[in-house]
Amino acid sequence: MNSRKEVLAKIVEEKRDFDKMDAPYDVETQYGIDTFGLKTMEAYLSKPIYKRLRSTIERGVALDEAVADDVAHAMKIWAMSRGATHFTHWFLPLTGSSAEKHDSFIEPAPFGGAITRFSGKNLILGEPDASSFPSGGLRSTFEARGYTAWDPASPAFIKRVGGVATLCIPTMFCSYTGEVLDKKTPLLRSMQVLGTQINKLMKAFGVYEENKRASVTLGAEQEYFLVDKSLYIQRPDLMQTGRTLFGAPPQKHQQLDDHYFGAIKPRILNFMHDVDLELWRIGIPAKTRHNEVAPAQFEIAPVFEEMNLANDHNVMVMEILRTVAERHGLVCLLHEKPFSRVNGSGKHNNWSPAYGDRNLLNPGTNPHENAIFLTTLCAVIMAVDKHADLLRASTAGAGNDHRLGASEAPPAIISIYLGEQLADIIEQLEAGMAKSSKNGKVLKIGVDTLPPLPTDATDRNRTSPFAFTGNKFEFRAPGSSQSCSSPNIVLNTIVAEAIDEIAEKLAAFPKKDFHAELQKLLQSIVKKHKRIIFNGDGYNDSWKKEAQKRGLPNLPDTPAALKPYIDPKNIALFEKYGVFTASELQSRYEVFIEEYSKKVHIETAVALNMSKTIIMPAAVEYLTRLANASKSLSDAKWGKNAEIEKRGKLVGALVNDLGKTNDALEKLVAANAEPREKLAMLGDLRTIVDKLELEIDDDLWPLPKYSEMLFVY
Ligand code: ADP
Ligand code: MG
Repeated sequence: MNSRKEVLAKIVEEKRDFDKMDAPYDVETQYGIDTFGLKTMEAYLSKPIYKRLRSTIERGVALDEAVADDVAHAMKIWAMSRGATHFTHWFLPLTGSSAEKHDSFIEPAPFGGAITRFSGKNLILGEPDASSFPSGGLRSTFEARGYTAWDPASPAFIKRVGGVATLCIPTMFCSYTGEVLDKKTPLLRSMQVLGTQINKLMKAFGVYEENKRASVTLGAEQEYFLVDKSLYIQRPDLMQTGRTLFGAPPQKHQQLDDHYFGAIKPRILNFMHDVDLELWRIGIPAKTRHNEVAPAQFEIAPVFEEMNLANDHNVMVMEILRTVAERHGLVCLLHEKPFSRVNGSGKHNNWSPAYGDRNLLNPGTNPHENAIFLTTLCAVIMAVDKHADLLRASTAGAGNDHRLGASEAPPAIISIYLGEQLADIIEQLEAGMAKSSKNGKVLKIGVDTLPPLPTDATDRNRTSPFAFTGNKFEFRAPGSSQSCSSPNIVLNTIVAEAIDEIAEKLAAFPKKDFHAELQKLLQSIVKKHKRIIFNGDGYNDSWKKEAQKRGLPNLPDTPAALKPYIDPKNIALFEKYGVFTASELQSRYEVFIEEYSKKVHIETAVALNMSKTIIMPAAVEYLTRLANASKSLSDAKWGKNAEIEKRGKLVGALVNDLGKTNDALEKLVAANAEPREKLAMLGDLRTIVDKLELEIDDDLWPLPKYSEMLFVY
């Protein structure tokens, strides 16, 4: 038996006692036990300090240092009671994962021994040596210092890895000269910008209240694959690039649609349960878990939260999925397309703006609320149409390139799906007083009440990259491994711009004609921007042609998709609202482009190495067997065998092709050719390898096959 099959047998043999029931778990007392949230703060802080901190968190009131000292001290006492010996500023650099550098609370005491200390200054400001984080030229090494600054709106939490507890303090990260180097700061800026414009809109509608806050909420659905670790470590491509670079599709994969929402297998449920407990412990409201479309693919979705928190939480969800998987002998793949020709993984970004506790994308129950809803809706339509290129840019990346536009993922063309009922309302709005809508109805803003909109999942168009789903927009183009930050920075900023423009006009309308004027304004917005609305099948090729006719951008790969970040009109937009400076955008563009070309380069080098040292030897071995068989048969009395000759020629030709392609690829790697060139050649190589997989003796095949990785767990 070859080693691959031994490993498979071991996975099956391994005894796992899944049916043993855990002791009852008290969610209510355990939830958030490892976060320094409001409840803990109230218990650990004096009343005046707690009140000041709370207004900082809720209203962004600046925190003075005296308060910070008290908060830090309380935080240390609490963290040590939870077993922590170290603290770290936890931040989100442009690398895509979180970063941390641990410092202990220990200080040598003057007369021997040690005491523990954690000052307000330690809490508020950190100075990590930042020279090893990507900055796209913003920070040269002679001024390598970076600053991390405490974000009190995201509670500190205890991270537990390998039995070690560390106090993590969510922070922003910027350069010595103040430029942002992270994914949190611009998100906070964009949220503030949107908040300001929502307030302006509420003023125009006459419903502004001093003590009400504008906000934006996010619910990030996270898709992922699980693979047994002993198979994973036999795949250098998975280990080094996160995706399989070779692998013939199995005869059965997802054709029968028998995985989606299917009964969850014991080992997986056991894993999911552990993930939920870990998430609840640090106050992440994990809610939904289920099998996804592809075999070995799953999803976790939390209850939506205020965006800054939801974004941090999604980063932690990804981390916890990975670490818990390891504990279970599994590996969690967050890559957008770990298996070619099988469903990819996305991150559905559920977004909605709110004012006080009212969701502005909820139609509400009376004509006035309906008017605000329709105005918000039109602002989104206008924003997405004007800046579809930026939304696309925010989802660009080497992994997502393999997913967007593939048969089951949303296309790389951004369009909006509204659903039948809302599409009809928009049509009525467009028809205005002209009474020409589909069913003869015309909507009068300020007079008519909208019918309740369906929020059930059944009739949703899964092919749309940007869909209205009852009371929120679901942006489905972001990839499973990507941070929610970029898509939401863009979304918040472009909608802020649209609301700004609309609110300016509304403010100038005479009071008595307000609704009539609003009606005309929304009508003109719909007329101008309705090309972005598409309720049909986004997978159909005819949509590409139709979208081109409508003038909608189709940016198929990362180099093309990132360009809008440095388009002068977009730079002007971000600068106008203070979300990014021109140099911050330029630097981000460079970081993302570089990341892309490095990733493609690594993939190419890994594929070449596997092809030469794993695939070729196996193919030659098989060819030799055929040659020996042919020779033995020629020596035998009954003579040659046509089938063996045929196979020998076929495999021999594939081996030759493989050799030639290896040589060509080697040249591309040495010359560090353009990513597009490398990817094309990688495709050629894969075709040959996958053909070989289907010809060679199963016992000789050196890599775990798709049928094994996707079905043995
Ligand atoms: P589906 O898979 O049908 O889209 P899920 O229940 O898996 O639905 O996910 C929906 C996500 O949208 C959840 O995370 C949910 O909390 C979130 N969500 C619901 N309402 C809002 C809202 N107003 N703003 C942001 N996210 C929301
Ligand atoms: Mg879902």
